[in-house]
Amino acid sequence: MHQSPPGLDGLSAWKPQNDQMGGALQIIRIYGIPIKIHWTFGLIFIWLGVTVYSRQGNVHWENLLWSALALITLFICVILHELGHALTARRFGVKTSNILLLPIGGLAILERLPERPRHELWVAVAGPAVNFGLALLFSPFLLLSDSERLHRQWMFVKQPGGNVFTYDIAAWEWFVFSLVVLNLAVAIFNLVPAYPMDGGRALRALLSMRYPRIKATLWATRTGQAFGGVFLLSGLYSGNWALVIIGMFIYLGAGAEKRSALNLDLLSKHQVKELVRPVFTRLYLNDPVDLVTASLHHGLERHFLVFDEWQTLQGSIDGQSLTPAKGRPPVRAIGHLVVDRDLFPLLVSDPLSLALEKFQTLPTGILPVYERDYLVGVLDESALKRFLDSQKRGPRKRQ
Ligand SMILES: [Zn+2]
Repeated sequence: MHQSPPGLDGLSAWKPQNDQMGGALQIIRIYGIPIKIHWTFGLIFIWLGVTVYSRQGNVHWENLLWSALALITLFICVILHELGHALTARRFGVKTSNILLLPIGGLAILERLPERPRHELWVAVAGPAVNFGLALLFSPFLLLSDSERLHRQWMFVKQPGGNVFTYDIAAWEWFVFSLVVLNLAVAIFNLVPAYPMDGGRALRALLSMRYPRIKATLWATRTGQAFGGVFLLSGLYSGNWALVIIGMFIYLGAGAEKRSALNLDLLSKHQVKELVRPVFTRLYLNDPVDLVTASLHHGLERHFLVFDEWQTLQGSIDGQSLTPAKGRPPVRAIGHLVVDRDLFPLLVSDPLSLALEKFQTLPTGILPVYERDYLVGVLDESALKRFLDSQKRGPRKRQ
């Protein structure tokens, strides 16, 4: 594989409970982090098979074996790169839901962003730093090879469309050489300031040391979209399909994050008190499930706050979870179905952008709203989404 796989990391815009991508199989857990492999990963082996088949009779089997070994080792390097991000994030108190392996690279899915820009910067550069370290680790073995052969290998790497399976070079040397070159390529390519790649995240972190994070995100994602577009077009022009896919991934990833930043920007100009719902149903831990479901049919509320008998807030519940699911033993009291036991307390004066951030990271659809220590109402995620839609449609209507 000659294309450098980028570590497109930490697309943390979604709630942890939403599975980010279907069709992924867990292969191992490292430091408690599930490492998953996406089904499209199998395409690499199909590509390997097709390449070998089309060169039949001309294949150097030993080289093929070493190349397959290099490919596997490279993906171990990609996992180490992602673990670099994940373990650095863990130092700053941010968990990683999983690490996903795709044919174009890895993806460390963080549960949220580190709060401080300095921490985000460390998390972003930790991945490429691992690859620089690995390249350094492998490079002494190059000394075992003579300079003329190293030159031939370098010429081979530079030659576009070259095929290692039909090339007559010493196999173990190729193995070491390709690992040094590919690790350097992965590190350097990831440092291109194209959000959501590591370099783009580092750029956003650097910008948000001076400017508000939302503005920093907007600039970084626009740069990312520009780079994505350039990669896409140059990939199409040169017939490099990996570059096309990577360009598309960057363009779409940056676009999604840009929309999310625009939403936050819009909501930061409004306060929670504009959307607070003062009348809401209180549920209690000991409420019988059937009684609650019967009364729910009459109302429009979907998410509820749950209290104990001393009126202390215990968490929230999704009305839909009360309908008995197949294969689940019936529950008598709703206490067992409560989610998110430490609900984030919103204040009436908080910006709505804070509420959106909380809804994106917490597994709840409702948050309590306080004014001077008193619970004055609730904020629904659905109300926030409707508000966002109406605000976005608003300017168009007035035209
Ligand atoms: Zn990375």
